[in-house]
Amino acid sequence: MSHLPEVEVLRKDLEKEVVGKRVKDVSVKTARTVGRHRHRPDFIAALDGRKIEAVRRRGTWLLFDLDEGATLCAHLGDQGVVTRETAKAESGPHTQVVVTFTTGGALHLVDPERTSRLFVAPTDGVEQLEELVPGGIDPLSGTFTWHAFARYLAGRHAALKALLVDESFILGLGDLYADEILWSAGLAPDRRSDALSSQEVRRLYRALFEVLYEAIKQGGTADLDAEGEHTDLFGEPGDYGSHLNVHGRAGEPCPRCRRPVVHTEVEGVGAYHCSSCQG
Ligand SMILES: [Zn+2]
Repeated sequence: MSHLPEVEVLRKDLEKEVVGKRVKDVSVKTARTVGRHRHRPDFIAALDGRKIEAVRRRGTWLLFDLDEGATLCAHLGDQGVVTRETAKAESGPHTQVVVTFTTGGALHLVDPERTSRLFVAPTDGVEQLEELVPGGIDPLSGTFTWHAFARYLAGRHAALKALLVDESFILGLGDLYADEILWSAGLAPDRRSDALSSQEVRRLYRALFEVLYEAIKQGGTADLDAEGEHTDLFGEPGDYGSHLNVHGRAGEPCPRCRRPVVHTEVEGVGAYHCSSCQG
Protein backbone atom coordinates (compact mmCIF):
# COMPACT_ATOMS: atom_id res chain seq x y z
CA MET A 1 0.00 0.00 0.00
CA SER A 2 1.00 3.61 -0.20
CA HIS A 3 2.88 4.67 2.88
CA LEU A 4 3.64 8.15 4.18
CA PRO A 5 6.29 9.08 1.58
CA GLU A 6 4.14 8.00 -1.39
CA VAL A 7 1.07 9.77 -0.03
CA GLU A 8 3.06 12.93 0.70
CA VAL A 9 4.57 12.91 -2.82
CA LEU A 10 1.06 12.52 -4.25
CA ARG A 11 -0.30 15.28 -2.01
CA LYS A 12 2.35 17.72 -3.22
CA ASP A 13 1.68 16.89 -6.86
CA LEU A 14 -2.08 17.14 -6.39
CA GLU A 15 -1.70 20.49 -4.66
CA LYS A 16 -0.01 21.87 -7.78
CA GLU A 17 -2.37 20.10 -10.15
CA VAL A 18 -5.90 20.52 -8.82
CA VAL A 19 -6.11 23.36 -6.28
CA GLY A 20 -8.35 26.06 -7.78
CA LYS A 21 -10.06 23.62 -10.14
CA ARG A 22 -13.81 23.06 -10.12
CA VAL A 23 -15.39 19.62 -10.45
CA LYS A 24 -17.40 19.09 -13.63
CA ASP A 25 -18.34 15.41 -13.71
CA VAL A 26 -17.86 12.47 -11.39
CA SER A 27 -18.31 8.81 -12.23
CA VAL A 28 -18.01 5.90 -9.81
CA LYS A 29 -17.66 2.35 -11.05
CA THR A 30 -17.76 0.41 -7.78
CA ALA A 31 -20.30 1.44 -5.15
CA ARG A 32 -18.09 -0.04 -2.42
CA THR A 33 -15.41 2.60 -3.07
CA VAL A 34 -17.83 5.29 -1.86
CA GLY A 35 -19.71 2.92 0.46
CA ARG A 36 -19.78 5.38 3.35
CA HIS A 37 -22.48 7.21 1.41
CA ARG A 38 -25.76 5.34 1.25
CA HIS A 39 -26.00 5.70 -2.53
CA ARG A 40 -23.49 6.49 -5.25
CA PRO A 41 -25.47 9.59 -6.39
CA ASP A 42 -25.12 11.07 -2.87
CA PHE A 43 -21.33 11.02 -3.24
CA ILE A 44 -21.50 12.44 -6.77
CA ALA A 45 -23.89 15.23 -5.69
CA ALA A 46 -21.58 16.17 -2.79
CA LEU A 47 -18.70 16.73 -5.25
CA ASP A 48 -20.63 18.20 -8.16
CA GLY A 49 -19.56 21.78 -8.95
CA ARG A 50 -17.27 22.04 -5.91
CA LYS A 51 -13.96 23.87 -6.14
CA ILE A 52 -10.84 22.30 -4.61
CA GLU A 53 -9.22 24.79 -2.23
CA ALA A 54 -6.47 22.75 -0.58
CA VAL A 55 -5.00 19.24 -0.44
CA ARG A 56 -3.95 18.10 3.02
CA ARG A 57 -2.78 14.79 4.46
CA ARG A 58 -3.60 13.09 7.72
CA GLY A 59 -1.58 9.89 8.12
CA THR A 60 -2.16 8.05 4.85
CA TRP A 61 -5.47 9.84 4.16
CA LEU A 62 -5.63 12.62 1.58
CA LEU A 63 -8.02 15.45 2.40
CA PHE A 64 -9.27 17.65 -0.43
CA ASP A 65 -10.85 20.75 1.13
CA LEU A 66 -13.68 21.98 -1.06
CA ASP A 67 -15.59 25.26 -1.07
CA GLU A 68 -18.82 25.43 0.95
CA GLY A 69 -17.29 23.67 3.95
CA ALA A 70 -16.89 20.15 2.63
CA THR A 71 -13.85 17.86 2.46
CA LEU A 72 -13.27 14.90 0.18
CA CYS A 73 -11.45 12.22 2.19
CA ALA A 74 -9.52 9.62 0.19
CA HIS A 75 -7.59 6.53 1.21
CA LEU A 76 -5.88 4.54 -1.51
CA GLY A 77 -6.10 1.16 0.19
CA ASP A 78 -3.62 -1.56 -0.69
CA GLN A 79 -2.93 -0.77 -4.34
CA GLY A 80 -4.77 2.38 -5.38
CA VAL A 81 -3.06 5.10 -7.41
CA VAL A 82 -4.30 8.45 -8.67
CA THR A 83 -3.31 9.51 -12.17
CA ARG A 84 -3.76 12.73 -14.08
CA GLU A 85 -5.50 12.24 -17.42
CA THR A 86 -7.12 14.28 -20.14
CA ALA A 87 -10.86 14.81 -19.78
CA LYS A 88 -11.52 12.45 -22.68
CA ALA A 89 -9.17 9.66 -21.54
CA GLU A 90 -10.76 6.21 -21.52
CA SER A 91 -11.15 4.44 -18.19
CA GLY A 92 -8.93 1.39 -17.75
CA PRO A 93 -10.29 -1.93 -16.43
CA HIS A 94 -9.32 -1.01 -12.86
CA THR A 95 -10.42 2.63 -12.90
CA GLN A 96 -12.86 3.05 -10.00
CA VAL A 97 -13.54 6.78 -9.96
CA VAL A 98 -13.13 9.53 -12.57
CA VAL A 99 -13.37 13.23 -11.73
CA THR A 100 -13.23 15.78 -14.56
CA PHE A 101 -12.73 19.53 -14.14
CA THR A 102 -14.45 22.52 -15.75
CA THR A 103 -11.10 23.82 -16.99
CA GLY A 104 -10.20 20.46 -18.55
CA GLY A 105 -8.21 17.48 -17.33
CA ALA A 106 -9.27 14.66 -15.06
CA LEU A 107 -8.14 12.53 -12.15
CA HIS A 108 -8.55 8.75 -12.28
CA LEU A 109 -8.48 6.54 -9.22
CA VAL A 110 -7.10 3.19 -10.41
CA ASP A 111 -7.36 0.31 -7.96
CA PRO A 112 -7.26 -3.37 -9.01
CA GLU A 113 -7.98 -4.54 -5.46
CA ARG A 114 -10.85 -2.11 -4.89
CA THR A 115 -9.82 -1.35 -1.33
CA SER A 116 -9.70 2.44 -1.79
CA ARG A 117 -12.20 4.51 0.14
CA LEU A 118 -13.64 7.93 -0.77
CA PHE A 119 -16.24 10.03 0.98
CA VAL A 120 -17.26 13.65 1.44
CA ALA A 121 -17.80 15.05 4.95
CA PRO A 122 -18.15 18.50 6.54
CA THR A 123 -14.68 20.05 6.92
CA ASP A 124 -15.49 20.89 10.55
CA GLY A 125 -14.88 17.69 12.43
CA VAL A 126 -13.05 15.81 9.69
CA GLU A 127 -10.01 15.45 11.95
CA GLN A 128 -12.13 13.70 14.57
CA LEU A 129 -13.62 11.13 12.19
CA GLU A 130 -13.13 7.59 13.37
CA GLU A 131 -11.57 6.51 10.05
CA LEU A 132 -8.90 9.20 10.25
CA VAL A 133 -7.90 8.80 13.86
CA PRO A 134 -6.45 5.32 14.36
CA GLY A 135 -4.51 6.65 17.32
CA GLY A 136 -0.97 6.54 15.94
CA ILE A 137 1.37 9.50 15.67
CA ASP A 138 2.04 11.13 12.29
CA PRO A 139 5.85 11.51 12.08
CA LEU A 140 5.55 14.21 9.41
CA SER A 141 3.36 16.43 11.58
CA GLY A 142 4.75 19.40 13.47
CA THR A 143 3.79 17.96 16.84
CA PHE A 144 6.04 14.94 16.45
CA THR A 145 8.94 16.03 18.65
CA TRP A 146 11.84 14.05 20.03
CA HIS A 147 10.40 14.35 23.56
CA ALA A 148 7.00 13.06 22.47
CA PHE A 149 8.65 10.16 20.64
CA ALA A 150 10.74 9.22 23.69
CA ARG A 151 7.61 9.23 25.83
CA TYR A 152 5.62 7.09 23.37
CA LEU A 153 8.46 4.55 23.12
CA ALA A 154 8.84 4.27 26.86
CA GLY A 155 5.09 3.78 27.21
CA ARG A 156 5.20 0.57 25.18
CA HIS A 157 6.92 -2.69 25.88
CA ALA A 158 7.35 -4.02 22.35
CA ALA A 159 10.00 -5.01 19.85
CA LEU A 160 10.96 -2.01 17.70
CA LYS A 161 10.09 -3.64 14.38
CA ALA A 162 6.63 -4.70 15.57
CA LEU A 163 6.05 -1.22 16.97
CA LEU A 164 7.11 0.68 13.84
CA VAL A 165 4.56 -1.20 11.71
CA ASP A 166 1.79 -0.81 14.30
CA GLU A 167 -0.61 1.88 13.05
CA SER A 168 -1.90 2.42 16.57
CA PHE A 169 1.63 3.59 17.46
CA ILE A 170 2.89 5.37 14.35
CA LEU A 171 1.12 6.01 11.04
CA GLY A 172 2.05 4.88 7.57
CA LEU A 173 5.61 3.50 7.85
CA GLY A 174 5.00 -0.09 6.76
CA ASP A 175 7.44 -2.97 6.53
CA LEU A 176 9.95 -1.53 4.08
CA TYR A 177 10.49 1.88 5.70
CA ALA A 178 10.56 0.31 9.19
CA ASP A 179 13.45 -1.99 8.14
CA GLU A 180 15.36 0.87 6.55
CA ILE A 181 14.82 3.16 9.56
CA LEU A 182 16.13 0.54 12.02
CA TRP A 183 19.18 -0.15 9.85
CA SER A 184 19.84 3.55 9.55
CA ALA A 185 19.55 3.93 13.35
CA GLY A 186 21.82 0.91 13.94
CA LEU A 187 19.18 -0.71 16.18
CA ALA A 188 18.22 -4.40 16.07
CA PRO A 189 14.55 -5.06 15.24
CA ASP A 190 14.00 -7.07 18.44
CA ARG A 191 15.21 -4.32 20.79
CA ARG A 192 12.54 -3.37 23.34
CA SER A 193 11.07 0.09 22.97
CA ASP A 194 11.22 0.78 26.72
CA ALA A 195 14.86 -0.26 27.08
CA LEU A 196 16.55 2.32 24.83
CA SER A 197 19.08 4.86 26.02
CA SER A 198 18.22 8.49 25.25
CA GLN A 199 21.02 8.44 22.68
CA GLU A 200 19.40 5.46 20.95
CA VAL A 201 16.01 7.20 20.94
CA ARG A 202 17.66 10.20 19.30
CA ARG A 203 19.28 7.96 16.68
CA LEU A 204 15.94 6.33 15.91
CA TYR A 205 14.17 9.69 15.73
CA ARG A 206 16.81 11.08 13.37
CA ALA A 207 16.82 7.93 11.19
CA LEU A 208 13.05 8.14 10.88
CA PHE A 209 13.24 11.63 9.39
CA GLU A 210 16.23 10.85 7.20
CA VAL A 211 14.57 7.82 5.65
CA LEU A 212 11.15 9.47 5.20
CA TYR A 213 12.52 12.67 3.67
CA GLU A 214 14.92 10.83 1.39
CA ALA A 215 12.03 8.60 0.24
CA ILE A 216 9.89 11.68 -0.46
CA LYS A 217 12.78 13.21 -2.38
CA GLN A 218 13.04 10.05 -4.50
CA GLY A 219 9.30 10.09 -5.24
CA GLY A 220 8.52 7.20 -2.87
CA THR A 221 8.99 3.49 -3.55
CA ALA A 222 7.44 1.60 -6.43
CA ASP A 223 5.53 -1.20 -4.69
CA LEU A 224 7.41 -4.40 -5.43
CA ASP A 225 4.57 -6.69 -4.32
CA ALA A 226 1.74 -4.90 -6.08
CA GLU A 227 0.04 -6.27 -9.17
CA GLY A 228 0.61 -2.97 -10.94
CA GLU A 229 3.69 -0.95 -10.08
CA HIS A 230 3.01 1.98 -7.76
CA THR A 231 3.32 5.20 -9.72
CA ASP A 232 2.91 8.87 -9.03
CA LEU A 233 0.31 11.26 -10.44
CA PHE A 234 2.13 11.36 -13.77
CA GLY A 235 2.62 7.60 -14.07
CA GLU A 236 6.26 7.58 -12.94
CA PRO A 237 7.46 4.94 -10.45
CA GLY A 238 9.23 6.22 -7.33
CA ASP A 239 12.97 5.63 -7.17
CA TYR A 240 13.56 4.90 -3.47
CA GLY A 241 13.42 1.15 -4.20
CA SER A 242 16.88 1.36 -5.76
CA HIS A 243 18.28 2.90 -2.55
CA LEU A 244 17.31 0.11 -0.13
CA ASN A 245 20.02 -0.96 2.31
CA VAL A 246 18.45 -4.06 3.87
CA HIS A 247 14.77 -4.52 2.96
CA GLY A 248 14.35 -7.45 0.55
CA ARG A 249 18.13 -7.97 0.41
CA ALA A 250 18.63 -11.17 2.47
CA GLY A 251 22.03 -12.71 1.77
CA GLU A 252 23.38 -9.59 0.09
CA PRO A 253 26.17 -7.61 1.80
CA CYS A 254 25.20 -4.93 4.30
CA PRO A 255 26.30 -1.60 2.74
CA ARG A 256 27.93 -0.59 6.05
CA CYS A 257 29.86 -3.69 7.19
CA ARG A 258 29.60 -6.04 4.17
CA ARG A 259 28.24 -8.95 6.29
CA PRO A 260 25.16 -10.64 4.79
CA VAL A 261 21.76 -9.14 5.50
CA VAL A 262 19.47 -11.58 7.34
CA HIS A 263 15.72 -12.04 7.46
CA THR A 264 14.19 -13.03 10.80
CA GLU A 265 10.84 -12.87 12.49
CA VAL A 266 10.17 -10.61 15.45
CA GLU A 267 6.85 -11.01 17.27
CA GLY A 268 5.26 -12.40 14.11
CA VAL A 269 6.63 -9.61 11.90
CA GLY A 270 9.38 -10.26 9.34
CA ALA A 271 12.48 -8.08 9.55
CA TYR A 272 15.46 -7.60 7.24
CA HIS A 273 18.49 -6.42 9.15
CA CYS A 274 22.21 -6.69 9.70
CA SER A 275 22.95 -8.66 12.85
CA SER A 276 26.46 -7.25 12.93
CA CYS A 277 25.92 -3.49 12.87
CA GLN A 278 22.40 -3.27 14.31
CA GLY A 279 22.79 -3.81 18.04
ZN1 LIG B 1 26.09 -4.26 8.75
